[in-house]
Amino acid sequence: MTTVNIISLNKTYPNSAAPVLKDFSLSVHDGEMVAFLGPSGSGKSTLLKLITGIERPDSGDIHFDGVSILNVHPNKRGAVLMFQKSYLFPFLNVEDNIGFGLKVQGMSSASIRAEVKRMLNLIGLPGIEKRKSGQLSGGEGQRVALARALVTNPKLLLLDEPLSSLDTSVRINLQEAIRAIQRELGVTTIFVTHDLGEAMAMSDRMALLLNGEIVALDKPEALFHRPRSVAAAKFMGVSTFLSGNQPCPEQGRRVTVKNEVCFSSEKIFAIRPEHIRVQKGGCENSMRGVVSDCVFRGEYIEYQVDVNAATVRARMPMPAPMFPHGAQVFVKFPQEHLFEVT
Ligand code: ADP
Ligand code: MG
Repeated sequence: MTTVNIISLNKTYPNSAAPVLKDFSLSVHDGEMVAFLGPSGSGKSTLLKLITGIERPDSGDIHFDGVSILNVHPNKRGAVLMFQKSYLFPFLNVEDNIGFGLKVQGMSSASIRAEVKRMLNLIGLPGIEKRKSGQLSGGEGQRVALARALVTNPKLLLLDEPLSSLDTSVRINLQEAIRAIQRELGVTTIFVTHDLGEAMAMSDRMALLLNGEIVALDKPEALFHRPRSVAAAKFMGVSTFLSGNQPCPEQGRRVTVKNEVCFSSEKIFAIRPEHIRVQKGGCENSMRGVVSDCVFRGEYIEYQVDVNAATVRARMPMPAPMFPHGAQVFVKFPQEHLFEVT
């Protein structure tokens, strides 16, 4: 339906020294769902506000299907925004909430009723037209908010952490529902979250955002298995980096290393925590360490091992050995799971 081009956007809020977005560019393809993953304050909501017209950029442009929308009134852009809270009108029932935008457009009551019914079927809540929005659970409220956003057939759907306030089970349920609906309608979507699992589960591509800049943009699988930079790897849950023959885990303290882990001196290698092995005996590519923490998580065990001055975090699927605090172990970095980062 819509291709979105974000071109060299810059935004600094008044009375603020640092820019929120710096020369920010991105293309979202027709029907694609792109997730923006970034810590709080990284500029995710600001980007969505610039697209909807709540804020204006200092420079740069935004195109929908090749046409700039910066001078189009926010109500006419065809970009709908859904937030963490549903912001339904509490005094209106579900039907009137969903149909509100259509009524403003002047659609007939009969057509609105039909559209609302279609949307309620789509979100998996048929027959709740007459319920007051105050009588909805958190998850139902967000489904209705999604229906309200989609009923006007928007060019672009913008989701700003819409699931953050929900319980895990409701949240996973809604992740699946939103993704299925997005695919079915083929609506171009930008989804903002600070949750890695959610971003991976819901997107065609993921953009990693740090201080107003994209540090990586790729398919979730590619970013997960082979992030190319240290910054991208950290986003993806990697905390162990080995440089040359000197491992330097995340704390940044350098480690005096045994020669088993041996590379040319200039390169940095990373390894995912689930590929690191914690074991009693030493072997190739292993280092001696002391267990500082060992947590049973059901499906896996999480270890923190002090290797000289730094902490290596590992996670091994069950069955895996539990080690007491202070146990002497070896941490192994299997060669085949090491990948180079810049
Ligand atoms: P995120 O959604 O990733 O948490 P935001 O886009 O909301 O980040 O905010 C990015 C930065 O801009 C933050 O440092 C925030 O404090 C600041 N900021 C957001 N809105 C305003 C505003 N209206 N005026 C001044 N600073 C703002
Ligand atoms: Mg935000």
